[in-house]
Amino acid sequence: MADPFAEGGLGELESPLYREALAQLDRVAALMGLDDNIHARLRVPQRSTIVTFPFRREGYFEVETVFAYRVQHVLAMGPTKGGIRYAPDVNLGEVAALAMLMTWKTSLVGLPFGGAKGGVRVDPTVLTRPEIQRLTRRYTAEMINVIGPDTDIPAPDMGTNEQVMAWIMDTYSQHVGHTEPGVVTGKPPELGGSVARREATGRGLVSLLPAAATHVGLTMEDARIVVHGFGNVGQYAALAAHEMGARVVAVSDVSGGVYNDAGLDIPKLQEWVAENGTLAGLPEVDTVTNDELFTLDCDILIPAAVGGVITVDNADDIKARIIAEGANGPTTLQADKILNERNIFTIPDILANAGGVTVSYFEWVQDLQNYFWSEGEIVARLREIMGRAFEEVLNISISEGYDMRTAALVKGIRRVAKAKLVRGVYP
Ligand code: NAD
Repeated sequence: MADPFAEGGLGELESPLYREALAQLDRVAALMGLDDNIHARLRVPQRSTIVTFPFRREGYFEVETVFAYRVQHVLAMGPTKGGIRYAPDVNLGEVAALAMLMTWKTSLVGLPFGGAKGGVRVDPTVLTRPEIQRLTRRYTAEMINVIGPDTDIPAPDMGTNEQVMAWIMDTYSQHVGHTEPGVVTGKPPELGGSVARREATGRGLVSLLPAAATHVGLTMEDARIVVHGFGNVGQYAALAAHEMGARVVAVSDVSGGVYNDAGLDIPKLQEWVAENGTLAGLPEVDTVTNDELFTLDCDILIPAAVGGVITVDNADDIKARIIAEGANGPTTLQADKILNERNIFTIPDILANAGGVTVSYFEWVQDLQNYFWSEGEIVARLREIMGRAFEEVLNISISEGYDMRTAALVKGIRRVAKAKLVRGVYP
């Protein structure tokens, strides 16, 4: 294999996250006997755009210059798709790694996209709303030839939200001279955003649990569930599990965790968090720390907050028989080995949290057709796509002898590799 990083380091892509993404690709490529040329090609993103641009701070006198990125990993599958994050430590390598993971995720669930990711190196928590609006509009103008409904479709990620997507859509539309809702997903419904997008990741994850439970010999009625993180993914996962009749015995957020052995009243918790910001102070429940949460007696554990929380320090003490990864990268590589040795059934992040990008795909399709589906149609199609992907990954895992994470990557990488092979090399 001709190594695109022949001179040693990773050059401009150097970052811990890119090293991890490459290590994962290299490991799975060796296991599945991936074609050498395809492997070398997939190790580097196809197109990376770096810009710097100024935006005015409050008062219009101070002008700040920031670095911004958009990386498109694979262009062979259709347009590219992935979020935009605003964070103080974003760099090219991180964005490129996340773009690569998006390629595997969209391929795994069979969406007609390659992976992309964008970022602006800025701390959005210190910016005012008008500052974020100016920053967003300038970022969009800088990327005007890079994004588009047929080329690359951004979505929200850390530090960005529905409002930021609305500003991107408006700026793009002003530049091209007509309203173009399909340029971003995760928009407000009034602008062509999809109903049920907000709940999609949590709901999609929980739709896989009955099949996973059956696989390990559990029933959802008897299942005790613990959820780490009570934001978008955690709340809707907890709610969907609660509605399914399972007992959600503990949830936590950045302020700590709450516990009730008889099962928590999830809608009540959501109301409390909507009013008070966090779970802190919630009456009539016991409290647990975030560390204790991972080792509680339960059947299903759903990490849905931040990365790197299941580590060598707690992997031996986890009691759950199923781990469904709502968060991206919640399990470290060493912890993953321990979980496999302990025979804990893991639904890996690229499968478990793919409901978000799946409903984003629905949003894009609806925007292109100007024909909007009912919530019932969206939920049914989400369940169908997620259920099929789960079954296929489980089949690969059983028939080829891989753990679920490896099987999910094999499935994702295999489809991209086949598409690239039949397209061939131009010229
Ligand atoms: P969010 O900001 O809405 O919620 C995050 C939650 O985690 C909050 O309740 C916060 O209090 C809690 N939290 C933060 N740090 C914590 C800590 N150290 N310990 C315990 N709790 C902590 O974010 P989200 O959109 O729910 O995303 C959560 C995870 O899911 C992220 O890893 C994200 O990349 C991933 N993800 C999200 C989506 C989506 O559609 N939102 C899709 C795919 C993956």
